[in-house]
Parts: sequence; C-alpha cells; structure tokens
Amino acid sequence: MTSKLAYILAASHSGSTLLSMLLGSHPQVVTTGEINLSPQAIGSLDRYRCSCGELILECAFWQKIKEGMAARGHVFDLSDAGTDFKASDSAYARRLLNPMVRGPWLEGLRDAALSLSPIWRRQFRQIQDRNAAFVSTALDVTGAGVLVDSSKIALRLKYLLRNTELDIKVIRLIRDGRAVGLTYMDPAGFADAKDPGRRAGGMGGDRKDQGMQMAQAAYEWRRCVEEAEQVLRNLSPSQWIEVRYEAYCSRPDETLSRICQFLEIEPGKLPNSFRHVEQHVVGNGMRLDTTSKIQLDERWRSTLSKQELTVFNRVAGDTNRRYGYE
Ligand SMILES: [Zn+2]
Repeated sequence: MTSKLAYILAASHSGSTLLSMLLGSHPQVVTTGEINLSPQAIGSLDRYRCSCGELILECAFWQKIKEGMAARGHVFDLSDAGTDFKASDSAYARRLLNPMVRGPWLEGLRDAALSLSPIWRRQFRQIQDRNAAFVSTALDVTGAGVLVDSSKIALRLKYLLRNTELDIKVIRLIRDGRAVGLTYMDPAGFADAKDPGRRAGGMGGDRKDQGMQMAQAAYEWRRCVEEAEQVLRNLSPSQWIEVRYEAYCSRPDETLSRICQFLEIEPGKLPNSFRHVEQHVVGNGMRLDTTSKIQLDERWRSTLSKQELTVFNRVAGDTNRRYGYE
C-alpha cells in the first residue's frame, strides 16, 4: 500500500512552514516540516526545540516516531535522519548532487554519472526506504491520511517521485521574488522567529554570516523557480497545484479550501487557530512564533533600496513578471 505525501515545492522563505502548519492543523493531515533533515538543520540536538515547546529529545511525538521507525527496521535519530538524498557518503555523488535541477539532457547526464557510484546506488535505495518508512510511521502515529513535507527543493522531489511506496501530490508555492530576495539578504531579520532568542532553532543569534548580496539573492530565487518548472514539466496537471503566498495570506480560507479539495480532504475541518493544535514541526523559525495571525509580509516594499531593486530586476525581473509580479 502506498502512503500519501503532499510535497511543498518552493524557493526557501516563500512561506512554506506557515503553509505546512496551516495544513497540519487539519485532523486528516500531519506535518513535521521538512523531512530532508540534515544534521546542520538541527544543530545541537540536546538544545533543539520542537514546535510543541518541548526540547526535541523530550518530545513524545518524536519518541513515537523513533519507535515506529525501529519497528520498520530503521534506527532513527533526528540529528542523522538519513532522509536527505544530498547527504551521501560519497564525495563524488555529493558533487554531482550539488547543482540545482536543469533540463532533461543534463539531468540524464547527472543520473548516468551517479549510477556509476556503487555507494550512491546502495544509499539511494536506503534513503528511499527511510523516506517511505518515515511517512508511513508519521501517518500511523497520528492517524492522519496525508503527510505534508515542506522540504521545498526540486531535486528531492525528482527522486521522491521515483519512490513506488509513495503517492505524491505537489503544492507549488510561489512568492514575489523581491520579498524572497530580501529574506536571503537578512535571514534573521526577515525569515526567522520574531523573538531573537528563538531564532536558529531556539538557539538565538543574528545569522549575519548567512546574508547574501542582492545579485546573488535574486539569482538564487530565479534558479529555484526554474528548477521547480523543470520537475513540474514531468507531472500530469492533476498531480500538482499552484499556490501564491500573497493569496493565502490575504485570503487563507479560499486558498486552503482549494488545497483541501486537491488533497481530497474535508475543507470544513480546518480550525480557526493552527497554533492551538498539537504539532511537532522542525525547521524554519516561524514554527516557534506564538501568533496564529496570518499576516502578509511585504516589508520588501519599504526596505529594499532603489539600487537593490534595479539589481533584482536585472537578474530576476523577467521571471518575477512572468508570474505577474509587477
Ligand atoms: Zn513536539
């Protein structure tokens, strides 16, 4: 039997954590945020906080996941989840997995080169097994019918689509590239928990070392959009839905009921406040915020300088306008 997975495909900082938590408050849906957990995303496990407020090592939900994974033959630890295709033991494979998704010809070359690595071939099967085991465990533990994975990246989706144990539907999330670009320039200020002490997974800090210049930020966003387009090209129209960040922030009810319909779950069952429903999400800082209010964040309008907007336009303006952002 296959397990149902809804994959949020997006550039990072497009509002995917909020969307996954909104959907996760539905009784038929479970989300843990991003499933492709890298050790770097978690940092120090003994200090890391789950969105339920508990330290992750003391969270009962994650304990049940660990037990469920063990029953399926997998030793599971959040600091080494083994669900990320990019975390291969082979340096050769890691190098090949680095570029974002490109056209069919280059992707064919990538796959052919990867298949030459015996380490990759073995790990690819293991990673696929662990992902399928994780989804079925989370569905079992919660009694939900569909798991939302907000991992976002296109390359992961490309490989998950080959997993015969998963029945995958894609929620493609798009946000104005100028807003996303700003979050890449200052991730702590524009894309993390509002309370500075809860940033970086509850460890705090200004994350100044992670900031980009606008040219790089705009390029990064444009490539994310392009790679999403490449992967979607291979899907049937019934397998994916396009959602705009701006639309779900301004008219959440309308957007969420459209997504519920797409996922074949009852729209009427969404609670008014997603924060009052027990959830165990790891990843982006907003999961640790306390407000349930859905607020459209358009701070880029007053924050980006004329010069920064010019740079954005030069690098990614065409792509942004193609999606109707003038
Ligand atoms: Zn928890």
